[in-house]
Amino acid sequence: MIGYKELGLVNTKDMFAKAVKGGYAIPAFNFNTMEQMQAIVQAAVETKSPVIMQVSKGARNYANATILRYMAQGAVEYAKELGCANPQIVLHLDHGDSFEICKDCIDMGFSSVMIDGSSLPYEENIALTKKVVEYAHAHDVSVEAELGVLAGVEDEVVAEVSHYTKPEEVVDFATRTGCDSLAISIGTSHGAYKFKPEQCTRDPKTGKLVPPPLAFDILYAIEEKLKGFPIVLHGASSVPQDEVDTINKFGGKIPDAVGIPEEQLRKAAKSAVCKINIDSDSRLAMTAAIRKYMAENPDHFDPRQYLKPARDNMKKMYVHKIVNVLGSNDKL
Ligand SMILES: [Zn+2]
Repeated sequence: MIGYKELGLVNTKDMFAKAVKGGYAIPAFNFNTMEQMQAIVQAAVETKSPVIMQVSKGARNYANATILRYMAQGAVEYAKELGCANPQIVLHLDHGDSFEICKDCIDMGFSSVMIDGSSLPYEENIALTKKVVEYAHAHDVSVEAELGVLAGVEDEVVAEVSHYTKPEEVVDFATRTGCDSLAISIGTSHGAYKFKPEQCTRDPKTGKLVPPPLAFDILYAIEEKLKGFPIVLHGASSVPQDEVDTINKFGGKIPDAVGIPEEQLRKAAKSAVCKINIDSDSRLAMTAAIRKYMAENPDHFDPRQYLKPARDNMKKMYVHKIVNVLGSNDKL
C-alpha cells in the first residue's frame, strides 16, 4: 500500500471546492507517454494551474500501471524543479469499471478514482459506487461517479447513443453513494468524431461541421438541485480544426472530425462544472506535429526530433485550454 500523500499528490476536495466557488474548471488531461506528462506539467507550472493527470484502463494496458504511477510521482518532482513550490497534481483513474480496479489504483498511490457504473441499472450503479466510496474515503481518496450515458468511443468505453442525465435522480444518487463529484451527460461525447454529419449543420463559408449545442438546461437544472456540488464533463475535446487540417494535409485521413466548441466549454466552466476532461485534443496535437515533421524531414529518424515538436504542440494546447477556456490559471 502506497499512500498518494507520500508521493506529493493531492485529492480533488479543496481543488473542486475552490473551482465551484471561483467559477472555473480544473483541466483533466489523459496521459500515457512521457512527452504528454512533461507537456502537462510544463503547462500547469507556467500558468500556475492545478491539474488532474488521468489514466484510463487503456492507458494502464498500454504503459503499465506501475510506470504511470511513477510518472505521476515524477510529475510532482518535475513541477518543483520547474519552480513550482506547491504543485497541486491529482492522479486520477478515468472510467474505472469495477471495485477491484479502483481498489488497485488506491492501493498504489492514486489520489482520485472514477467508478463508472453508468451502463448499469440505477440501483446497481448506486451499490457499486457506494462500495468504492467506502474504500476510497477510508484512504482520503476522492471518487467521481457517473449518471447518464455519453455516446462515442474512449478506449474500451463505447456507447452508440447518449442518454442525458435525469436531474430528478441526482440528489438521491449523490446522497446515497456519498460520491465527491458527478460526471453528467448533456451532449458531450467521447473521441474525435463526437457527432455524425447528420447530427450537425454545415457552415456555408468553410464547409465545416457545426455540432448541436450542449443541453445547458439540464446542466442548470442539476446545478439547482445539487447546489455547490462538483460536476464533471467528459468527452469535452474541441477537436481543433487547424490540427485536423494539418493531419489531413500531411497524409492523414480524418475527415469530418468534430468536437465541442470552446465557447460552450467556457460557459460550462463558469457553472458547477469544475472538471473538464480533454484527451482527443492532445492526441490530435501530437499526431499533427509528428505528421508535419516527418513529411518535411523525410531523412530524419531520431524519435527525439519529431517528439520534441509534438511535445511543444501539446503544451501549447494545454496552456490555451487552461488560460482561454477553463480559467484555472493563477490559482496556485
Ligand atoms: Zn470519459
